[in-house]
Amino acid sequence: MSEQEKVQLAEIFQCSRCGYCCQGETTVSLDGDDQQRMIKELGLSREEVAQRFWRITGSVVQMQIIDGHCIFYNDTTGCTVHVGRPWRCGQWPLHPSILEDENNFTTISQSCPGINKDISYEEFREKLRLLLEQERKLIC
Ligand code: SF4
Ligand code: SF4
Repeated sequence: MSEQEKVQLAEIFQCSRCGYCCQGETTVSLDGDDQQRMIKELGLSREEVAQRFWRITGSVVQMQIIDGHCIFYNDTTGCTVHVGRPWRCGQWPLHPSILEDENNFTTISQSCPGINKDISYEEFREKLRLLLEQERKLIC
């Protein structure tokens, strides 16, 4: 695919930084790379990061929830661990499940004002498919 043919992220999504996706009673899970990146970004020991910021259930590591939002979310500044955030946070809202089912697209687009709602689902899906082809771990 030539540079000219490449899909630009802004064609389907531009984050308004509303913070909605950092709210709720659960968060994404951190894989091994996420854990290392967060530890490095925070400049703390693994034990301290785990104790202060993570909720560990068996082998599942998530971020703690405080007052109904991720412990790293701040009303004024947004994500306070931006560089060290889990890759699934960076991927949101362009989840691959959108490719499979329009209902997933509808649900996600209703909760995320950054999704381009001026194009059809079919057009959105095709652009997202191409974007995911271009980048293995798409970060928005
Ligand atoms: S990804 Fe969507 S819901 Fe999350 S902050 Fe950006 S616009 Fe808001
Ligand atoms: S790590 Fe950052 S982007 Fe991810 S849920 Fe927490 S505050 Fe939001």
